[in-house]
Amino acid sequence: MLIIEKPVLNTRDGKTTVSVQFEMDKQKKELWYSFPNEYENFIVTEQSDAFVVGLLFLGLKTGNDIKINTPISSKLFYSLNHYIIDALCLVNDQYKKIKILPSSLSQTDFNFGNTASTGLSCGIDSLATYFDHNDEVDPYKINYFTFFNVGSHGDHGGENARSIFHERFSNVAAFAKKVNKEVITVDSNLSEILQMKFQETYNLRTISCALLFQKLFKNYYYSSGTRFDHFGFNNAEIADLDMLIIPNLSTESTSFFVSALKYSRIDRTELISQFSETYDHLDVCTHPIRNEREKINCSECYKCQRTMLTLDLLGKLDLYSSVFDVQKFRRNKKKYIGWLLSKKKKLTLDRELINYIKETSERDFQVEFFKLKYILYRKKLNIIRFISK
Ligand SMILES: [Zn+2]
Repeated sequence: MLIIEKPVLNTRDGKTTVSVQFEMDKQKKELWYSFPNEYENFIVTEQSDAFVVGLLFLGLKTGNDIKINTPISSKLFYSLNHYIIDALCLVNDQYKKIKILPSSLSQTDFNFGNTASTGLSCGIDSLATYFDHNDEVDPYKINYFTFFNVGSHGDHGGENARSIFHERFSNVAAFAKKVNKEVITVDSNLSEILQMKFQETYNLRTISCALLFQKLFKNYYYSSGTRFDHFGFNNAEIADLDMLIIPNLSTESTSFFVSALKYSRIDRTELISQFSETYDHLDVCTHPIRNEREKINCSECYKCQRTMLTLDLLGKLDLYSSVFDVQKFRRNKKKYIGWLLSKKKKLTLDRELINYIKETSERDFQVEFFKLKYILYRKKLNIIRFISK
C-alpha cells in the first residue's frame, strides 16, 4: 500500500512549497513542489489530485494500491478507475492494476482564475499551441505559461537537471516577456522519487504540476508531438496515447486538452514561422551541454537538424539564423537527408519529413541520389576504419 497524507503549504524566502508525506513499503518520504509565492492563493490543498497523479506511476510500477487521506476529485477518481489505469496497463505490461482509495470524493469547483495556460519550452509544439490560441477569449485564452522541472531536463532529476532547467528558463522568460505573459515555474523532487524514464512517464508528471493550480487554470493545454491520426497503443511512442490520457485527467475545476492535434510537425513549423517573436527564441535542441555554445541550438543533433531541414524546405531557415548555425547546416544538409532516408527505424515524424522532401524536391531521383551518396559515404567510412585497424 502507498499511503498519501494531507498536503501542507509552506512559505519561506519568496518561495512557496506544497508537499505531502507518503509511505510505501514501511518507508516514509516527502513529495514536494515549489513555486514563487505570488501563486500561493491558487493552490488546491483541499484535495490531493496533483499528488495521486504524480505518484500513480510509482503505484503502477510497484503494484501498491494508493490510499489517500484527503478527498480527491470525483471526476478524476472515475476516470482513473475506468480509463487511465487500464489504458496504461494495456500499453505497458509491466504495470499492475491497482486501486485508488481516497478518504472521500469531492465535486467542488475551486476555480476562480477563469483563464488558460500551457507549458512553454519554446520548442515547435509549445509555440504552435500558443499561436494556435491567439484568437481565443477567456477562459480559453492563454494568459500564463508554465515551466516545470519534472523530468524533461533529466530523467532522474538531481542538480544536473536543475541547472539545465534554469538555463532553458532564461530563453522561455525572454519569449514570455516579448508576448507579455507571465511564466509560472515549478521545481519538484518528483523525478528523484519516481526514478523512471521520462519518455514513459512525462504526461502524468506535467499534469500533476498543473493540477496544483486548479484555482487559477480553468483550461490547460498540453502540447504533444502527435496529430489525431497518430493515435495508438505503442510503448515505444507513448505520446500517441496522450489524446486519450490527458483529457481524462480533468477535474471539476480544470479541463485538460491535448492541443494542436490537427497539425503535423511541418504544419506547426509553418505556423510558428509566421510570427517574428519566435525568431530569436526557438529552442528544439536536446543536446545536454548548453553553456559553452554561442547559439541556443547545437545545430548538429537529430532534433536540430530535423527542424532546420523543415525550415529550409519552407524557405524560412534564414529567419532563424540567431538561434541556429545555418552555415553549418547547409554544409551537412545532403548528408543529413541521406541519413534520414536510409534510417532503418523511421519514426512518424521522419516519414512525414521524407514525404515533404519528396513533395518539395524538383525530382524524386534527386532525393534518391542523396540516399545513394550517403550509403556510399558510410561504406567508404567503414572501409577506412577497417583498413586503419
Ligand atoms: Zn541540437
